[in-house]
Amino acid sequence: MTSELRGTPAAPGMAVAAPWIYRAAAHAGVESMSLDEASAAAADEIGALGAQLRDAGREEEAEILDAQAMMAVDPELQAAAAELAANGASPAAAIIEAGDAVASQFEATGDEFLAARGADVRDVTARIARIMTGVPAPRLERRSVVVAADLPPSVTVELDRELLVAIALEGGSRTSHAAILSRSLGIPAVVGVSGVCDAAAAVSELGVDGDAGVIHLDPDAETSARLADAAAAAGDRVALDAGFATTTLATADGHRVACAANISEPAEAAAAFSAGADAIGLFRTEFAFAGRATAPDEATQAAAYAAVLRASAGREVIFRLADIGGDKPIAYLPLEPEANPFLGVRAIRLAERHPDLLPTQVRAILRASAEVGQRASIMAPMVADEEDLEFVQRLVADARAVVTDAPAPRVGIMVEIPSAVLLADRLAPHVEFMSIGTNDLTQYLLAADRSNAALAGRQDPLHPAVLRAIRRVVEAAAPSSCEVAVCGEMAGDPVGALVLVGLGVDELSMDPRAFGAVKRAAANRTLDELVVLAMAAQQMSTAAEVRTAVEAS
Ligand code: PEP
Ligand code: MG
Repeated sequence: MTSELRGTPAAPGMAVAAPWIYRAAAHAGVESMSLDEASAAAADEIGALGAQLRDAGREEEAEILDAQAMMAVDPELQAAAAELAANGASPAAAIIEAGDAVASQFEATGDEFLAARGADVRDVTARIARIMTGVPAPRLERRSVVVAADLPPSVTVELDRELLVAIALEGGSRTSHAAILSRSLGIPAVVGVSGVCDAAAAVSELGVDGDAGVIHLDPDAETSARLADAAAAAGDRVALDAGFATTTLATADGHRVACAANISEPAEAAAAFSAGADAIGLFRTEFAFAGRATAPDEATQAAAYAAVLRASAGREVIFRLADIGGDKPIAYLPLEPEANPFLGVRAIRLAERHPDLLPTQVRAILRASAEVGQRASIMAPMVADEEDLEFVQRLVADARAVVTDAPAPRVGIMVEIPSAVLLADRLAPHVEFMSIGTNDLTQYLLAADRSNAALAGRQDPLHPAVLRAIRRVVEAAAPSSCEVAVCGEMAGDPVGALVLVGLGVDELSMDPRAFGAVKRAAANRTLDELVVLAMAAQQMSTAAEVRTAVEAS
């Protein structure tokens, strides 16, 4: 039995190798370059890394680096560093401190996504300081498990891919960039592993189990062999899944379910369709508002939305209205601090204080729709009841009165607040689709804040209470012609997807990387089997019991 540390599984797979501990350089050296020169050099370096990734077809990572290249020469960041330097800080310390100030603002929101953007800023300023002080870039010498407090994306992509076999981080979350990059590179990763840097310094080998979220310290022969076998089996699984990605999502007896993609940037749309999407089931439009100093105008938004409609070539695109406020503040909107942001002024609730935000967005979606000549689908997040729905319908009607040449949009709502589940029979007749947001619905039903790592074990959407809620929505929608989709992370988990098909949902919307595994899982079961399984799951006591039952079936 070897000793082990536990964290959050962030990218699947297993590996055993020597630890290589990354520590951001202290930058106490003497500057051999000015801030301007070093910033421009950092932007060039990061831009070149981005171009390499793009050439290799790794668009998602390339975009992260493109954003960082722009950050390196951001005038506000430069001005803040220049002011600190004028007050006596060394130029390298000044840029680090200026980056820390920006990153802390992001991190203070408590939002995982924004905290990850904060980590990107720190990464950029660390690179500028490193270039300024002439410190060489980090390098791997042999096959290694990279261990760090946090691993900046630009460092991850610079490390030799042949030698980087796994990642173990003290910090990070499933949505941090290190985790996203690991998944897209196929490198096993475990994040949130308390004490892993110190522990790794005292051992000669680490075993990483990215499925279970476990780090084995100096694994014995038996553990190493088990990890090697599991890695081989996982490799076989990935190869099998890949063969299914672009097939139809259907059970063995031909029951079809729409397979849609969740995207967060216009550039992801084309890749989602080539990966096998029937539609875009959730376009998180927050990207249009985040990281800007001023509100995006209608024309700017319309151009971005039109690009997604064009990429879809006639297939459905569901534009989710901006889900900002509360836990996801944006720079130019003054938002009051809140004690419970997830229960706060979020999404459509922001309309009262910021009356132009949503009307502008809906008009932009309709303008894009008119320009491309394709109907858009508009989905409102955080709808609690009929009054919220009426507000959304008014919003769309008012926008249509202005943009008169757009095809009539399909209008739908997210069902992610428990009241909407209980009222689904009253909401369904008035909308064309409902998409269940199991990420939020799980946190609200089980009263377990989705950003609180201490409650991670309580946030499993396979919980029978969540399954009963989903079934209730499906039953409530059946008498009307309202489609029911699920667009939370559950839809991309093969076990979750099987239960959802059995519960009767019409569409699963997920990260395109999950298409192969979900389609392969469904193709091996009949609809009857899944209906029986989903009925039994609703009578179980825990999420773990449901998972075990599905896996054993
Ligand atoms: C959800 O809540 O399940 C969802 C899909 O939306 P988000 O994760 O963006 O809140
Ligand atoms: Mg949500």
